[in-house]
Amino acid sequence: MTTDRRFADMLHHRAKRLRRGDPVAPPLVSATTFHLPGLEGASHLYGRMAMPTWEEVEEQLAILEGATVVGFPSGMAAIAAALMASLQAGDRVVLPSDGYYTTRLLADRFLAPLGVRVELIATADMDAAAFDGAAVVFVETPSNPGLDCCDIALAARKAHAAGARLIVDNTTMTALLQRPLDLGADLVVAADTKAPAGHSDVLYGHVSGREPQLMARVAEWRKLSGAVPGAFEAWLLHRGLETLEVRLARMCASARVLAERLGNHARVRHLRYPGLPGDPAHAVARRQMADFGFLLSFELESEEKAEDFLNRCRYLSQTTSFGGTHSAAERRARWGDAVAPGFLRLSVGVEPVEPLWTAIAEALDA
Ligand SMILES: *Cc1c(COP(=O)(O)O)cnc(C)c1O
Repeated sequence: MTTDRRFADMLHHRAKRLRRGDPVAPPLVSATTFHLPGLEGASHLYGRMAMPTWEEVEEQLAILEGATVVGFPSGMAAIAAALMASLQAGDRVVLPSDGYYTTRLLADRFLAPLGVRVELIATADMDAAAFDGAAVVFVETPSNPGLDCCDIALAARKAHAAGARLIVDNTTMTALLQRPLDLGADLVVAADTKAPAGHSDVLYGHVSGREPQLMARVAEWRKLSGAVPGAFEAWLLHRGLETLEVRLARMCASARVLAERLGNHARVRHLRYPGLPGDPAHAVARRQMADFGFLLSFELESEEKAEDFLNRCRYLSQTTSFGGTHSAAERRARWGDAVAPGFLRLSVGVEPVEPLWTAIAEALDA
């Protein structure tokens, strides 16, 4: 099924259940307890096990992913669930050395002390790396913040040959732009906090997969650890997802325009955007991504020059995170990422591109 068809199906996912007079938008149900004069036939038992408003979102995401989906209260809660469901003491896990830093911290602070051996490999080296002896290979492509890519289908083949499972963090792409499960991944994890919710006002995450036993274990982790999303957050994500496709179309188109123009600007160094034909990740990006995303990165001369640029640019909100309606940028070195002091990650929002470019160009030329 095409991604367009999936998205159209997602928009109408409630239609088949609606009775005359029902609300078209899903009701926000914040109940923790449900009428249970006996357990038989009850659709809901207790809020930590399942809630109606989560199910609405999980149904949307399941249509987009073509897989079973379990929702979590943040991207990190989803990542923790995927790792806890697939690792045990003595296992080896391969993680990207240049991906989202909290995933590495989680492994270092909590998995290693439980007896999991953690091995770090740079995203750009994953294609050539051997995964022998690993139980789980975890990749993030394009990686945040460096935007290097690796070949998901190749990683899946190598992981499976080594007897390992492949988990892909698909946050920077979403299920509309990249389909790791179709390329052989065993689990997808994603922070819906970013583009899927899209309005900088909700934390959410999900795990998706097609192996029933593994997904049952992910769901069991949620129930037993209590890492459950709130009903209001689910409701906000449901609303955000309805416009994901149109927001992404604008964001990706604008990112391409900005990347081309920034690439020709004398002050901009080491520009990375997988959509540029000269980018080191372009060949693999073309093979596995439906579009090249809304993130780009580049360097200015120094910390001061980069901060000065951010302070001057009226259409770049100085925030961490990405995927919102407002364009945003920050110096990643302030969080300790292994990047140059003047390195900026820029998340392109839904502003019309010409005023956005004018604001960026004026701040660069000031
Ligand atoms: C933001 C992010 C996460 C974590 O998501 P939260 O919702 O903040 O927990 C995980 N992976 C990547 C690639 C991210 O960008």
